[in-house]
Amino acid sequence: MDVHDPHDLLWLYHLGLVVMAVWTAATVVVLLRLVAPYGRHTRAGWGPTVPARIGWIVFEAPAVFLFGALLLASDRAAEAAPLALAALWLVHYVHRDLVWPFRMRSGSRPMPVVIVATAFAFQIVNSGLNALWIGHLAVYPADWLADPRFVLGAALFAIGFAVNVHADHVLFTLRAPGETGYKIPRGGLYRWISCPNYLGELIAWSGFALAAWSLAGLAFAIYTAANLVPRAIAHHRWYRHTFADYPPGRRALLPGLL
Ligand code: NDP
Repeated sequence: MDVHDPHDLLWLYHLGLVVMAVWTAATVVVLLRLVAPYGRHTRAGWGPTVPARIGWIVFEAPAVFLFGALLLASDRAAEAAPLALAALWLVHYVHRDLVWPFRMRSGSRPMPVVIVATAFAFQIVNSGLNALWIGHLAVYPADWLADPRFVLGAALFAIGFAVNVHADHVLFTLRAPGETGYKIPRGGLYRWISCPNYLGELIAWSGFALAAWSLAGLAFAIYTAANLVPRAIAHHRWYRHTFADYPPGRRALLPGLL
């Protein structure tokens, strides 16, 4: 394989898309049978664990460092469209990998190594694919930043990111230092749904897919839905089962709908 040959890169990109499709299908099949064993759904039988903070930093690292390295290796990285798309991606992932884990309370449940390893492998494919497209394969028109797809997508991304960060902030402030239990989150979108952090994530990556107008972005948005819709339903069931006074009108993910 010659990394300077566009045909080889395109072949690699298509292979990555196939891997994403298979991974997403496998995720749907697995999550129809079980809830991913981390956070409140952690249970015995999933092998050794690491502190959740370490787990998140490790498995999200490719989204910052691999993605960043592939962009830096590109001749087009300084062009407006790749730069703007990379900025959206990196705002989210620098926060997720290098800020968010340090806001997490020490009471967070330990994470099985198998989850860390699986998510790390996924993030290599996902970040590699999106960086390959944005930095090396896509040819965006000079006025792409004024294109309605970019404008609407970037706006959705910003809204989703804000919703996600606010919702996670509410969760982090529920535990006093040293506390380990769970409480009912309130305020903001929690008035209507149990998992506004997941809703924000879904809006952000749908927006990114639109702004990048790429199969790589679309594949990640679909994977995010395959992962987070079942988890939101599991969280919602868990809240209702755990708290007798859980707000009865609250839904899992979409106000009034789901
Ligand atoms: P959760 O909402 O399950 O937990 C987030 C943090 O808040 C954890 O530290 C958790 O502690 C704590 N927490 C959650 N609920 C409560 C509560 N009721 N009381 C006290 N503390 C609480 O989110 P995830 O860990 O699943 O996801 C974290 C972030 O990563 C989210 O922003 C999510 O959108 C994103 N994500 C994105 C994915 C994608 O495919 N793009 C996939 C998975 C997550 P504890 O760990 O002890 O439960």
